Amino acid sequence: MQWDAWGDPAKKRELSDAVTSLLTGFLGVSAPTRSRLAIEDVQVTPSGLAQSHVEALAGLVGAEYVSTKDSDRILRAGGKSTPDLLRRRSAEPQDAPDAVVTPGTGAEVEQVLRYCSANRIAVVPFGGGTSVVGGLDPIRDGFDAVLSLDLRRFDQLVGLDEESGIATFGGGTTGPRAEELLREHGFSVGHFPQSFLFATLGGFAATRSSGQASAGYGR
Ligand SMILES: Cc1cc2nc3c(=O)[nH]c(=O)nc-3n(C[C@H](O)[C@H](O)[C@H](O)COP(=O)(O)OP(=O)(O)OC[C@H]3O[C@@H](n4cnc5c(N)ncnc54)[C@H](O)[C@@H]3O)c2cc1C
Repeated sequence: MQWDAWGDPAKKRELSDAVTSLLTGFLGVSAPTRSRLAIEDVQVTPSGLAQSHVEALAGLVGAEYVSTKDSDRILRAGGKSTPDLLRRRSAEPQDAPDAVVTPGTGAEVEQVLRYCSANRIAVVPFGGGTSVVGGLDPIRDGFDAVLSLDLRRFDQLVGLDEESGIATFGGGTTGPRAEELLREHGFSVGHFPQSFLFATLGGFAATRSSGQASAGYGR
């Protein structure tokens, strides 16, 4: 997903003349006054995570799964609400989590949480990054640092009881991936919020999300 916009750029469509003239003539909307920044030009607030913490976390999940790079942190700096997207047009330094940690097992998640709890480091789980209510903001709120806990490695179908229709997935499984995994068994997730393309099952559960088929399938 793009860091400062919604959707797949390959599927971008231009506005029709009718919509453009409605926006300009009727609503008085003019051309954008703020241009988009290329991700490599974005200024990100420096990571405040002490090197000793980076090394300790690397010892828990593996060094390749702990990153303090600006390019990784900016991708997890918030969600996809209009204020989020407008904020990303600002030339000011963008606030971002101090590090991105991507555990691969439940035991690693537990160890990271125990470590962060003992060391006054806030943790924000990150699913698909589609929050529209500030649920991913890197709020320190008295903590020494804040981590983004990226759950994308939890993307498997763990179990399926075909009789009851209950499926168990890793929390980082995206909507399309879950649908693909269930389709092999003749099932469907049945949950289709408008953010389905990028959002995850963990995010669906954490936000009590609803979709256009929820009245039929539940949520
Ligand atoms: C264009 C657009 C359309 C949308 N349409 C809908 C819609 O139709 N219906 C709807 O309900 N919402 C909708 N949303 C809002 C959003 O997509 C949902 O809230 C979605 O459920 C978030 O899932 P996510 O995986 O992207 O979670 P994220 O945005 O990554 O996280 C959301 C919150 O859940 C927490 N979280 C994420 N994963 C976990 C986990 N595994 N364990 C614990 N906490 C976790 C995060 O810390 C954060 O606080 C839309 C958003 C956009 C941008």
